[in-house]
Amino acid sequence: PWEYAPAPESRELADLKPNYRLFVDGEFVDGGGKPIKTLNPATEETLAEVSSADLGDVDRAVAAARRAYDQVWSRLPGTERAKYLFRIARLIQERGRELAVLETLDNGKPIKESRDVDIPTAAAHFFHHAGWADKLDHAGYGPDPKPLGVAGQVIPWNFPLLMLAWKIAPALACGNTVVLKPAETTPLSALVFADLCRQAGLPPGVVNIVPGAGDVGAALVGHSDVDKVAFTGSTEVGKQIQRTLAGTGKKLTLELGGKAANIVFDDAPLDQAVEGIVTGIFFNQGHVCCAGSRLLVQETIAEELLERLRARVSTLRVGDPLDKNTDVGAINSAEQLGTITELAASGEAEGATRWSSPCELPERGFFFAPTVFSGVQQSMRIAREEIFGPVLSVLTFRTPDEAIAKANNTPYGLSAGIWSEKGSRVLWAAEKLRAGVVWANTFNRFDPAAPFGGYRESGFGREGGRAGLEAYLDV
Ligand code: NAD
Repeated sequence: PWEYAPAPESRELADLKPNYRLFVDGEFVDGGGKPIKTLNPATEETLAEVSSADLGDVDRAVAAARRAYDQVWSRLPGTERAKYLFRIARLIQERGRELAVLETLDNGKPIKESRDVDIPTAAAHFFHHAGWADKLDHAGYGPDPKPLGVAGQVIPWNFPLLMLAWKIAPALACGNTVVLKPAETTPLSALVFADLCRQAGLPPGVVNIVPGAGDVGAALVGHSDVDKVAFTGSTEVGKQIQRTLAGTGKKLTLELGGKAANIVFDDAPLDQAVEGIVTGIFFNQGHVCCAGSRLLVQETIAEELLERLRARVSTLRVGDPLDKNTDVGAINSAEQLGTITELAASGEAEGATRWSSPCELPERGFFFAPTVFSGVQQSMRIAREEIFGPVLSVLTFRTPDEAIAKANNTPYGLSAGIWSEKGSRVLWAAEKLRAGVVWANTFNRFDPAAPFGGYRESGFGREGGRAGLEAYLDV
């Protein structure tokens, strides 16, 4: 819904002199950690060397956030906070092309996705929360809902700017200040965002960005002067953080992994379902926590659906992420490519039938052909583990009850999809599915007004909507 404003001429890409250093107390500063080299995963070339934080830097960033909280941000009326958030939202739009290109270079995602999804959705998130900032007093929380203080936030590499927006926008809207650690393979858009905060005139210390590896994240979430921790990433690290914070009284929200079931009933609109299945698993190379990675299809239509699906997947253009026609870009890192390759091999070894798109892959860079496994059994690793790549596991079912039982047979519970023409069946299934988000006859749809989050090992707490605000308020 948010249109791009043309990029101002003074910010042509060629003139851009990015400052890939830590952002602490309103200044770009050198960190004490070992610099991070970030690659373009489509070419394996080094994109930039980024200064990394050490423990002293984390201390300084938290202290800056505390000062900004005590002296400025928590005292500003909501109407004033809203003005900053609106300014940030507009600047994301104005610098949308620069951010989209940078995100695609650093992450490997197709430019049409960063241009049409990541960047506009990040702007939408700031617009939405700007609208909340001056209405919290009237939102039924009581006369004076209090912010929590300093938020320590850690994000993954799959949607670098969007995950940042999900974290920072509600925190600031509610009057908290922030120290955020981006993922080590995708720190660049967060640092351009820092520049954009300066451009917006945001008071120093309200937002601080500390690039680094997991040790920096651990230092941040464990810091004694951080009041609230928000983490998005793997279930394994989420569990570690939960153990670290046990007994500290800090508020915690966790957005973790998933293994979503995308269920196609025999009365589903098949062409539409095929598009939804493709979006569900091949969008962003399948690096999506809520990816529809398990396709559950009713036995009577399985053969026909698979045939149509393979034909459609064969048309996906895989390759250069900067090419506007590319549908599937590069895998974010050699490490992730290794994980995907290993899990796909386990599928074959365990007896599933592997089919890969006949597309040609570029010679350089980290690429993986879109792959569909049929004949998958629930006990197989590819049915149980999060692959986080362009690999779909297809299982079948006979009755609606069996579909629900199979869908819920996972320790995760982030999202699910239902394809059926029958409204009563959609409502019945949505209620039975143990997943935070259930899409019907669509998939991977997001709106800042809709709370997003998981059940069980997919984490707890919500981002977006009113529920998302409550994670940053004492009500
Ligand atoms: P990851 O857990 O390895 O890393 C996530 C972030 O945590 C990175 O910034 C990393 O540096 C940091 N980190 C690593 N160890 C840490 C520690 N001990 N303490 C604090 N921080 C630490 O995950 P990833 O590989 O970057 O991301 C992929 C995972 O994220 C997938 O499992 C995916 O499902 C999940 N994810 C979930 C959501 C959601 O909303 N539920 C959204 C996106 C991604």
